[in-house]
Amino acid sequence: MEEATVHIKTLNKELKKQGEKKCCTCLSVKKLSDFYYRPGSARHAICKSCTLKYYHEKWKTKTSEEKALRRAKYRSWYDKLRSEIIKEYGGSCVCCGEEQVEFLSVDHINGGGTKHRKTLGGGTAFFKWLRDNNYPKNEYRLLCMNCNWARGRYGYCPHEKEKNA
Ligand SMILES: [Zn+2]
Ligand SMILES: [Zn+2]
Ligand SMILES: [Zn+2]
Repeated sequence: MEEATVHIKTLNKELKKQGEKKCCTCLSVKKLSDFYYRPGSARHAICKSCTLKYYHEKWKTKTSEEKALRRAKYRSWYDKLRSEIIKEYGGSCVCCGEEQVEFLSVDHINGGGTKHRKTLGGGTAFFKWLRDNNYPKNEYRLLCMNCNWARGRYGYCPHEKEKNA
């Protein structure tokens, strides 16, 4: 291990107490939230913008065939993970029973889902988080786009009114 790396490690132990961390690539001290979170492990040693830059540069060196293959691989991985999650959560909208997977999404029961997703870094990180946390059932449920949207927009779903009428 290089001396510089050892130095950063010691420094980061101190910085962590005040919620900061030094990136080992750009060497700037940033907030902990500027580093990607890994479930059950320490945050990345490289900050988010350096990580993105790295992948961006790497991506540019790929041929279009490689890119297409990569996208297809990602797509199938994503679909598999998504259908696994939907199955775990019962496979249908808890409000109206919609079973069309394209319409379904995981909803945070007590709200705050957007904030949580942001903390994780957005995108597939949330799906991975669900899987790594063994699909917490008391916090999340499946809703279709209609029921989800109505709740977000009006604070209730028209289906609930129908049921209570
Ligand atoms: Zn950096
Ligand atoms: Zn629904
Ligand atoms: Zn509904």
